[in-house]
Amino acid sequence: MSGSASRIWEATPLRLAERMERLGTETAFDVLARVNALKAQGKDIISFGLGEPDFETPDHIKDACKTALDENYTHYGPSQGLPELRAAIAEYYARTRGVQVGAENVVVGPGAKPMLFSAAMALISPGDEVIYPSPGYPIYESVSDWIGAVSVPARLREEREWSYDVKELETLITPRTRAIILNSPQNPTGGMLLASDMEAIARIAIERDLWVITDEVYSQITFEHPFASIASVPGMLPRVVAIDGFSKTYAMTGWRIGYTVCRADLAAHLSRIETNLHSCTAMMTQRAAYAALTGNQEPNQKMAEAFRRRASLITRLLNEIKGVRCVQPRGAFYVFPNVTEVCANLGLPTANALCDRLLLEAGVALLPRTCFGRRMEEGEYVRLSYATSDENIVEGVRRIKTLIEG
Ligand code: PLP
Repeated sequence: MSGSASRIWEATPLRLAERMERLGTETAFDVLARVNALKAQGKDIISFGLGEPDFETPDHIKDACKTALDENYTHYGPSQGLPELRAAIAEYYARTRGVQVGAENVVVGPGAKPMLFSAAMALISPGDEVIYPSPGYPIYESVSDWIGAVSVPARLREEREWSYDVKELETLITPRTRAIILNSPQNPTGGMLLASDMEAIARIAIERDLWVITDEVYSQITFEHPFASIASVPGMLPRVVAIDGFSKTYAMTGWRIGYTVCRADLAAHLSRIETNLHSCTAMMTQRAAYAALTGNQEPNQKMAEAFRRRASLITRLLNEIKGVRCVQPRGAFYVFPNVTEVCANLGLPTANALCDRLLLEAGVALLPRTCFGRRMEEGEYVRLSYATSDENIVEGVRRIKTLIEG
């Protein structure tokens, strides 16, 4: 841009709405930009930063999209989602959670992330308190803050394999609490709540008349324990807003498609939000998602199997590094090791400083604790996504070990 053109922009101050001061972000994307810039300079970087499968979308799903284009699925469609896709989602959700839902209980949107946003918009008023996991996917906190709610972090505990002390969770509830956000299996810790946790939380939600927004995007990536949804607890369904999607299960992050399952009267309101925001989700993407759910499940089962194998590999290798303590993950594709001792040994004040050194000196990208919402716990932690090849895991952790052990 020429100097005079940029002066014209700068001469007029940017006047934003007051609410923009409260909007956070997902800083993982900033790390990604840094990694890409270093790679563009020719640096050899192994990235444990990205929260997306390293696999490609299975061919039969891509083919369904190509066919949809040829069949002219290129127009606006129903805001709530294509009826055949909603029916397939309802059938899948009913089968996997053991609940009775139909197409009228499903709203399709461009990703699980926007569905979290519309659920918060529909259910939470300014001043309401929202309890969300800490450490957690940062969008829960930023969206709650943005809509004027009071965000209340609920501590997940390393010593409980990154699950809640449910009694402690209960102490956070006040007369202003409106909703609890759950995420299991969990980003960033790889923790998972078990059926007994879900029962205990459901009892509280029913007693205290709360909504539960449950983010289940990693439901198909579990290891030793079976996936448990709070929606499955008898009596919970009317107060549950379940959010799931295709990004993680079918390696479809860039397609942008997810969904909400909830009571039909709420689904109608969420659909109205869709009309206002997106009109509808891309039609050819919906046809691809339909193929994903109704077609061959072998490719995604193989992906989940690979994540299970890598979970053990990376946990073992990390625990062999002096000063690192890493809980065995129960699901998703993340580990969240404790690096407090490493930081102390290297004279680094925070995990952020450790991540900087690892990126610049060892060519390994990982994310510090501060990417995952306000801190509740003492100590320093980092997140590694093992959605990358076994070779990258072995070489990346070797580089980490070399830097840390000197
Ligand atoms: N929820 C959690 C816990 C996530 O980790 C992510 C992505 O990283 C999402 C939601 C977003 O999923 P989608 O790509 O469907 O918007």
